[in-house]
Amino acid sequence: MTKRDKGTGGTGIPGLLKGLATTARTLATPSHTAEYPDVSPTLPPRSRGVIALLEENCTSCMLCARECPDWCIYIDSHKETIPATTPGGRERQRNVLDRFAIDFSLCMYCGICIEVCPFDALHWSPEFEYAELDIRDLLHEKQRLAEWMPTVPPPPALDERSAEPAEIAATHKPARGASRLVAKDRPARVRPQRPAADDAKPTEPDA
Ligand code: SF4
Ligand code: SF4
Repeated sequence: MTKRDKGTGGTGIPGLLKGLATTARTLATPSHTAEYPDVSPTLPPRSRGVIALLEENCTSCMLCARECPDWCIYIDSHKETIPATTPGGRERQRNVLDRFAIDFSLCMYCGICIEVCPFDALHWSPEFEYAELDIRDLLHEKQRLAEWMPTVPPPPALDERSAEPAEIAATHKPARGASRLVAKDRPARVRPQRPAADDAKPTEPDA
């Protein structure tokens, strides 16, 4: 083996023929040039393009901001008092979302925020055309995050052998009034009687 063959891993004429065969094969194969942006690429539907926010679902619980390893989620909210709906009822308080922003110049697309959100307010959208000339413009506020919601694909179908989701099971339950009617028609439950106190006492053996 010559010094040159050592570097390429080939051995003389067979190595040369092998190289020529590879060249000929490549010449005959049509090229796969991505003609983006003239032709949009076909991405898998669950691509991690950008994070979309469904503002109505967000309760400002701050869980996503606390769990984000890059600390690139910014949330501001305030409390609002809702008056009682019935006389003598209690007032309630709820969080109102003032600001929800994600800095995509820091985000590493790990998806932890989406996983931990207990109210399904964050979703992956396959949208990826949001490049900016200035890195500071990659900080996107809730209005922009909401604009990506229509591009979020529907969730995959449930496994046919999985248990019925609790939300759907609740819709199949009879209405409250109906269950009371059914209860009225049922025979009264008979409770097992306890033995009288005297009967329960152990009898002492005769002396
Ligand atoms: S994908 Fe990861 S890094 Fe990006 S905002 Fe969510 S938790 Fe933070
Ligand atoms: S997006 Fe989800 S986890 Fe984040 S504050 Fe809103 S409800 Fe909480």
